Amino acid sequence: MAYVWKNWAGNETARPLSFGSPHTEADVVSLVQSAHDAGHKVKVVGSGHSFTPAAVSDGHMLSIGALKGIRSIDREAKTVVVGAGTTLNELNFLLHAEGLALANLGDIAYQTVAGAISTSTHGTGVSLPGLAAQVVGMRLVDGVGNVVVASAHENAHILDVARVSVGALGVITECTIKVVDAFRLHAHEMPMKLDDVLNNVDDLKSSNDHFEFFWIPHTRWALTKRNNRTTDALQPLPKVKGWIEKTFMENYAFGALCRIGRVKPSLIPRLATALPSSGSRTYINDSYKIFASPRLVRFYEMEHSLPAECVADALRDIRSMVERKKYMLNFPVEVRFTASDDVPLSTSYGRHSAYIAVHVYKGMEFEPFFRDVEDILRGYQARPHWGKVHHRDAAELATLYPRFSDFLSVRDELDPDRTFANRYTDRVFG
Ligand SMILES: Cc1cc2nc3c(=O)[nH]c(=O)nc-3n(C[C@H](O)[C@H](O)[C@H](O)COP(=O)(O)OP(=O)(O)OC[C@H]3O[C@@H](n4cnc5c(N)ncnc54)[C@H](O)[C@@H]3O)c2cc1C
Repeated sequence: MAYVWKNWAGNETARPLSFGSPHTEADVVSLVQSAHDAGHKVKVVGSGHSFTPAAVSDGHMLSIGALKGIRSIDREAKTVVVGAGTTLNELNFLLHAEGLALANLGDIAYQTVAGAISTSTHGTGVSLPGLAAQVVGMRLVDGVGNVVVASAHENAHILDVARVSVGALGVITECTIKVVDAFRLHAHEMPMKLDDVLNNVDDLKSSNDHFEFFWIPHTRWALTKRNNRTTDALQPLPKVKGWIEKTFMENYAFGALCRIGRVKPSLIPRLATALPSSGSRTYINDSYKIFASPRLVRFYEMEHSLPAECVADALRDIRSMVERKKYMLNFPVEVRFTASDDVPLSTSYGRHSAYIAVHVYKGMEFEPFFRDVEDILRGYQARPHWGKVHHRDAAELATLYPRFSDFLSVRDELDPDRTFANRYTDRVFG
């Protein structure tokens, strides 16, 4: 029987001709060359955590999980060379052992380095851009099987756009990434009235190194998270309390509420009041242990970046629409912030950004709600996350990214025969 691949959320499926696991860059070269010569398509899959069909292929799918680990460290330049198949979890541990860390991370660390940068994965923090902006060099295998080395000194125009490429330029085998000295964060989580958050959002986001909040639909509450650098001693959540609050409450108990809501959606507003929105907590831990946490409850997600100054208006519009249309939502709406960056297809390209992410529990209908949210956010020039559900096409995306055509030119140069095309790249890049 043919191999069937599914992404993490289970909303995307592929039946590839083959699924390869090359062990070396040379293996990747011969795989791409023979696929190209046969007129077949190739797609690398990282950890399969994209909600879009970014990684699917009915040609050859491959995982470069074997190309992992730190290959070298330049302590003066504060950069590390890593195998592109390294997961962020693995990288966090390896860096920590060297007294180093990534400056910022998203909510999870299951992604591979290449997968995360390729879709413009980001965390939160007004002075920090997403992961792709930390990439200062890479090696990739292009669409005919050539190895391309890209850095500020060699093929700089390729590095420029290849930092966010949705897998459309080549198979990235190695990345050079900027790192920082290992650091600790003081985490402070507390519920606030959503209106208070929105009225003070500028101050909240700029007075904390990393600020984010989760609005709980059907309530007036938001759970806020402030993470700030500290040199104070470690003060982690006690093991049992930490497991109960992080793993049990945010995953098992939350998952149980979601299952009840899926069976009887009319109960969702009442169940929402039981979400972990009460109580505050503070703790101090190594940065990577605070940024990312386990996500055991599966869901579908859409996320857009918009000019940071529009976030309160956009969220109020979404709240009114949810009330008007009586959507029953059992997942919080997450809001984060990043600095502007210079990566042409980064969702934060050229503007300080706020991100609004909406989620729907796995197995529940998400299309009408996501489309309504997307329509609202269109009015704010919002750009969709490349790895999360959206409905935009190349014509619309070209209006949102001033350097879209620069990306397309490099694509013509590196993948003239579209070896790395799939139905997603056909839609978003044409
Ligand atoms: C539970 C959950 C939480 C998430 N949290 C966040 C978050 O906090 N912030 C955020 O921004 N995003 C978040 N995401 C989205 C996620 O970071 C992205 O979708 C990311 O791309 C997934 O990485 P991956 O390794 O699974 O890549 P995949 O989804 O497997 O692939 C993504 C793209 O990268 C390409 N690719 C992978 N490897 C290579 C390679 N070696 N060379 C070239 N192209 C390659 C693929 O072909 C595909 O186009 C989350 C997703 C989930 C499911």
